[in-house]
Amino acid sequence: MERFADPHRLEQMIEGLDRFTATPGQGTTRLTWSPEFRGASDFLRAQMEAAGLTVREDAVGNLFGRLEGRDPTLAPVIVGSHFDSVPNGGRFDGPAGVVTGIEAAFLFRQHGLTPDRPIEVIAMIEEEGSRFGGGLLASRILTGQLDPADLNTLADDTGVTAAEAMTAYGLDPARAGEAVLAPGSVHAFLELHIEQGPVLEAQGEDVAIVDRVVGLSQLKVTFRGQAGHAGTTPMNARRDALVGAVTALAQLPDLARRIGRDSVLTVGKMEVSPGGANVIPDLVVFTVDIRAPEESVVRQLIAETTAVIQAAGGNGLTTEVEEQLFVAPTPLSAALHASLSRHAGALGLKHRTMVSGAGHDAMIMAGFAPTGLIFVPSRGGISHAPEEWTDYAQLARGVDVVFATLCELTGVKHRRNMREHFGMHGSPIQKSFPDEIV
Ligand SMILES: [Zn+2]
Repeated sequence: MERFADPHRLEQMIEGLDRFTATPGQGTTRLTWSPEFRGASDFLRAQMEAAGLTVREDAVGNLFGRLEGRDPTLAPVIVGSHFDSVPNGGRFDGPAGVVTGIEAAFLFRQHGLTPDRPIEVIAMIEEEGSRFGGGLLASRILTGQLDPADLNTLADDTGVTAAEAMTAYGLDPARAGEAVLAPGSVHAFLELHIEQGPVLEAQGEDVAIVDRVVGLSQLKVTFRGQAGHAGTTPMNARRDALVGAVTALAQLPDLARRIGRDSVLTVGKMEVSPGGANVIPDLVVFTVDIRAPEESVVRQLIAETTAVIQAAGGNGLTTEVEEQLFVAPTPLSAALHASLSRHAGALGLKHRTMVSGAGHDAMIMAGFAPTGLIFVPSRGGISHAPEEWTDYAQLARGVDVVFATLCELTGVKHRRNMREHFGMHGSPIQKSFPDEIV
């Protein structure tokens, strides 16, 4: 099967970018607006320029590389992802999507294709929230969902505010509002991301086209009892908050297993107070993270979790369940899902539809412009770790799908161009373009 994207060029970009880490030899650690982040940004700028893009940095440090369209006044298609990382993470989470955009630009240039409307490759800041918490910062700022004034109060673990970090990076935090995109100014947003799960590899499939991002809820559960001496308080006189909490916790995973429908439930954080080996715990707080593709399932799991918690109370224990976050499932563009799927099929790739269990910038952008999201396989399903890996040939297949879709979205007159550049007898990409697109 003929391919378009160059795996070697993708490798050079991913590996080149990975030099900019605060933890060499121990994975990728690239926090937003850090010195490594500046190095990575400069590297990406050079790659974008080599691909023929006109580069600008916006007011918060997002990097845009623009391929001008025949009509520069048309709203651009934006393609890209983030280039920050978690601490000691992998080299593909985020960068895979950024280099996808750059490689697509190389392909436009290589094949002499001029898009009708502009294409902008974007490299985004602070998706992981590893420095300032919350995450999805770039997309929330771009779409006007975050008040730029909040940059004065967001602070990292060392007490440095986002505004101070921006100043050190060479940006003016007072101008952050200039990064907000005007409504209607984006024709479509495309993101390629690594799957970060095991499904594609296990099924031997090339790409997944995401049709929605899961709904999720985060609960804060509190058990209160009575502290006491571990040696002098008889067993039948105890109000042990930890025993109550663990009794409830042990039942929670089964709720999701029983309900099914691709729901998942995780207790990832628990604090026990006062936290002495010889003290009966009087306070336990733990989190419950609930995710499912359907909102009704998320709500059902919240209700059943709450019932289990309440049943584990009593006998001197009081309980409290606080819903700290609720995000309904986010549908992505059905038209882009169809388009990405069609091109994957025409390119001879094994593809499936998938629900994303993780949040991505695409989830925020979906409320602003038609948005498509495509996954490529993660070896062993591993992510947020130095072992994170995607074969470059597999990444290239994902890029091919994005490239073909970009051609469609930007009205590239493929038949004339493709005949010029691939000869008269057709090519895989020509076959991948149904007539109605032209
Ligand atoms: Zn990511």
